[in-house]
Amino acid sequence: MKVLVLNCGSSSIKYQLIDMETNEVQAKGTVERIGESEGKLKHKTAKGEKVLHEVFATHSDGLKRAFELLCDNDPIKDLCEISAVGHRVVYGGEALTKTCLITPAVLKTIHDAEPLAPLHIPAHVLGIKVVQDLLPGVPQVAVFDTAFHQTMPEHAYLYALPYELYTEDHIRRYGFHGTSHQYVAKRLAELMGKPVESLNIITCHLGNGSSITAIEGGKSIDTSMGLTPLEGLCMGTRCGDLDPAVLTFLGKSKGWDLQKLDDICNKKSGLLGLSNISNDCRVLEDLVLAEGNADALRAMSVFNYRILKYIGSYATVLGHVDAIVFTAGIGENSPYVRKEVCSKLQLLGVEIDEIANDVHGKERRISTDASAVEVWVIPTNEELAIAQQTYALVKSL
Ligand code: ADP
Repeated sequence: MKVLVLNCGSSSIKYQLIDMETNEVQAKGTVERIGESEGKLKHKTAKGEKVLHEVFATHSDGLKRAFELLCDNDPIKDLCEISAVGHRVVYGGEALTKTCLITPAVLKTIHDAEPLAPLHIPAHVLGIKVVQDLLPGVPQVAVFDTAFHQTMPEHAYLYALPYELYTEDHIRRYGFHGTSHQYVAKRLAELMGKPVESLNIITCHLGNGSSITAIEGGKSIDTSMGLTPLEGLCMGTRCGDLDPAVLTFLGKSKGWDLQKLDDICNKKSGLLGLSNISNDCRVLEDLVLAEGNADALRAMSVFNYRILKYIGSYATVLGHVDAIVFTAGIGENSPYVRKEVCSKLQLLGVEIDEIANDVHGKERRISTDASAVEVWVIPTNEELAIAQQTYALVKSL
């Protein structure tokens, strides 16, 4: 059985075709700049990579072209070889709390959530409709970024705002990256040879977008992202936690409108805003390590400190921590960030093995035998997790 995993964004589509018997990625690609004057499609299989520069006026055009490449006998001959399609959907809210088959009712619920995720939902809905047209009858499954965090207790997901803003307007913490946090927690339990239900874990998903989750017995009990993926850690271009009064102050003092404030917080802040150099952790890290560059150091210090603070607070919330996991681009590849954070976790009895910590993109325990908390690097694989959940659901039908 082959599952196609789709991640439809506002101007791009990412796809992977995965063989569920072997978990092998048979093809992967991206369609970028949909709706622009020139689009780009990258398609990679075991035989090599093709790059096309064409106009993709709509998501439908882009997906059709990707499907043509998939069926070019590499890796399949016909679309009917695709048994199911798994969609990454950023937001499921309180209505869609589990991976589910996309029925007309589910599609409507996803669609109705557009005001809370205006950049993503329209693209997800388009993607689902295009697949309905191109692959009629093939089951489609939605896997939600927010689903894993629906186990958070009320005291963790409520903001201290007037309660009606929750009951009537659904303003609350939802959390994101759920598929990734869940995947690495499950994988950690396998690696430790213990049931996930017996473990308290803090998972640090550190990429361009970053979040940290407190997982008690396999269930998310708190996470750093909130109503949107803007809250929490310092990220590539996002500010993370902020006194909300900063926005009203800037609105009044500079006359900035809501769009400008949104832009500043989402696109001009974080590592980029603090350093005025780059949003890319690798660039900043190199500058810090090679020459102690003050601008890069300022940004990385805020980035690392925020991670430390969240781990500390989640340790308190959990009461006892068995393991800390680092994942995603930075978590998997930056011995510097891991060391900066872990060396300050003496209160938890964390001790890092510097040699083991020199690892990039591979599963490895990086704590010493004496460490009171195990620390692991575990590469995330959201596409495989989506494919596995899609496969399990379709098989059970
Ligand atoms: P997203 O999926 O949120 O776009 P990724 O998980 O791909 O992000 O992570 C991107 C980040 O990972 C970038 O900031 C990049 O600099 C960082 N990264 C990748 N490799 C390294 C490395 N070797 N050292 C430090 N950071 C790295």
